Amino acid sequence: MAIRWNEEDVMKKLKKQKEEEESGQTDKRMWTPTTPKKGKSVYRVRPLPDMTSGGEAWVKRFQHGFQAPSGSWFIENCPTTMGNKCPVEDYLNKQNLFNNGDPKDKNFASKVYKKKNYFMNILVIKDDRSDGENEGKVFIWRFGQKIYEKISSALFPEPGMEQIMFLDPYKGRDFLISTKMVKDGDKDYPNYDESVFAQTPSAIADTDEAINKILESCFDLKTELLAPKYFKTYEEFEKMFKANVIDYRSGERKEEKKVEEKKEEKKEDKKIEEKLVEPKKEDVPVKETPVVEEVNDDEFLASLNKELKHLQGEKTK
Ligand SMILES: [Zn+2]
Repeated sequence: MAIRWNEEDVMKKLKKQKEEEESGQTDKRMWTPTTPKKGKSVYRVRPLPDMTSGGEAWVKRFQHGFQAPSGSWFIENCPTTMGNKCPVEDYLNKQNLFNNGDPKDKNFASKVYKKKNYFMNILVIKDDRSDGENEGKVFIWRFGQKIYEKISSALFPEPGMEQIMFLDPYKGRDFLISTKMVKDGDKDYPNYDESVFAQTPSAIADTDEAINKILESCFDLKTELLAPKYFKTYEEFEKMFKANVIDYRSGERKEEKKVEEKKEEKKEDKKIEEKLVEPKKEDVPVKETPVVEEVNDDEFLASLNKELKHLQGEKTK
């Protein structure tokens, strides 16, 4: 018998692939909203407490992510995430690259400086992509400073404002993630300013059993994202940074310039979506404080792929 051609089935699979491609959901643990070119998309998710760590809701991670003068992507978790010294920062401070008055050096320093992201478990409630395939499942959601400020001021409101304890599995709140492109200059960037907590409290499921099942399927964020194996030792990190960055700066300036120019064009295209934030003072003992940027999508995808490969490597061992 001939193999039956079922256009509907095939199209369904192709559509799913396309959506995965567009949303960058290459790491199955991660959930990433897609920002439409026109109009806005709204997703409904429920932030979950990470009960494996006693109810903490999110972890913060610093990461260096940039295309190095060597041409390869330099994606490394910053040791300062765990309170350790960072070879990149030591180099930048020693050379005073943020403050020596040379715009090229300052540009370089900003590029290689660490970026900040937060990660939280969420239950996806409403997500139209892939025929709602993500709905009812738990993922890790990466977000930046602006969303962090929203959730932080919900938990720790200004005097006179009402607290929103959204994490409560029984009477917490869903979060409506609204994303749209906003013009900055002549380019569009994803913007999440209109995201809000739902007004009505709700339980994440109808029964205790179902609630427990959801909470138990949360990822242990510290193990998934902050385990020691995801951080290089100072020496390893320094060696890599030297080979891919410092050596080019001190020797092959010509090649660096070429890559810098290429990167500049690219950076313009892929400017990051959220506002920049000031790092802690002790991180940067220089006069002018550099900013900790959000990770842009190129960098993020490269890092996800790297993490995924790492995990797969772990499994096959
Ligand atoms: Zn660092």
